[in-house]
Amino acid sequence: MEKLLVTGGSGFLGSHLCDRLIERGADVICVDNFFIGSKDNIRHLLGNPNFELMRHDVTFPLYVEVDRIFNLACPASPVHYQHDPIQTTKTSVHGAINMLGLAKRLKARILQASTSEVYGDPEVHPQVEGYWGRVNPIGIRSCYDEGKRCAETLFFDYHRQLGLEIKVMRIFNTYGPRMHPNDGRVVSNFIVQALRGEPITIFGDGTQSRSFCYVDDLIEGMLRLMDSPADFTGPVNIGNPGEFTMLELAEKIVQIVGGKASLQFMPLPQDDPRQRQPDISLAKSALGWEPKVALDDGLKETVAYFRKRLAA
Ligand code: NAD
Ligand code: UDP
Ligand code: UDP
Repeated sequence: MEKLLVTGGSGFLGSHLCDRLIERGADVICVDNFFIGSKDNIRHLLGNPNFELMRHDVTFPLYVEVDRIFNLACPASPVHYQHDPIQTTKTSVHGAINMLGLAKRLKARILQASTSEVYGDPEVHPQVEGYWGRVNPIGIRSCYDEGKRCAETLFFDYHRQLGLEIKVMRIFNTYGPRMHPNDGRVVSNFIVQALRGEPITIFGDGTQSRSFCYVDDLIEGMLRLMDSPADFTGPVNIGNPGEFTMLELAEKIVQIVGGKASLQFMPLPQDDPRQRQPDISLAKSALGWEPKVALDDGLKETVAYFRKRLAA
């Protein structure tokens, strides 16, 4: 039986990943320090004999025996990663060092949940993996962006210097059930505001764009990457190329929720990227992967989840 480690396993993406791995019949160790994640996301797995939950902070060494490692531990929303920026960099960098050290001792394959933030506020559009990015090293987003960039560096140096099998996945904005209602990310914010009849908070003029991938598509891409041939390291973009402005997103969500909603314009946060869209040619050719869920369909599922959750 495959023994797998998922760090950040009780978070939004990690909990969906644990579900898919358990469905596949794997033995899963889920590590989380509950900085963000709550047991609610994985409560349904707690009685499963193939599932083990460990409260642990990846900035400290970890000694377990596994065949493969999915390294997802890191706060992902700007509100959360800016809450304790020093800890965010430590999580990305010390966390990567510890998980790579673990992978080295075990000769285990290891996947890093990297991010489109490595491209910063991009001048190349859509973003291809060969683009080096435009990142402010000293701004309020830098703890996350530079932390993730340094983690990529570490992954490639462990690969070149020690022959470790690595997989680097650049994840673009992903949404779906189990996002935290107070997560601060745009999809959860807009849905919760629309359901509560509160004004929708648009930062800046709302013309900045993002590309939103539904969680099921994203996890499928992650599994395909982990299972890809040993010589395929990435980095590889995984995201949905459909690009929307925040005004378009607000309009869609208000329409799905129903009722009337007003817009409240607020200042644009520092270094907020103007546009973002993945070029997914590499994911298509190397992994045979492309997203299947249209934004409207994914938003309907996500609205249904939040409707239930807010009513509980
Ligand atoms: P999330 O915040 O829901 O989950 C992250 C989990 O990591 C949380 O459960 C948190 O408690 C845990 N964690 C944080 N610091 C930790 C530490 N030091 N030790 C152990 N656990 C720790 O975020 P998510 O959306 O599920 O993102 C998962 C990963 O994917 C992150 O690495 C994130 O950077 C990356 N990513 C996500 C997106 C997205 O749109 N969701 C986009 C790009 C990259
Ligand atoms: N490490 C870990 N679990 C292990 C092996 C190593 O957490 O099973 C940590 C260890 O604490 C070390 C880090 O991974 O700080 C990097 O390990 P590596 O072997 O690359 O470096 P070294 O121990 O030589 O500094
Ligand atoms: N945003 C917004 N209103 C909100 C939250 C976010 O207009 O209530 C904007 C934010 O300024 C950014 C985009 O939505 O331009 C995506 O923000 P998110 O925090 O979800 O992700 P990221 O900026 O990391 O892509």
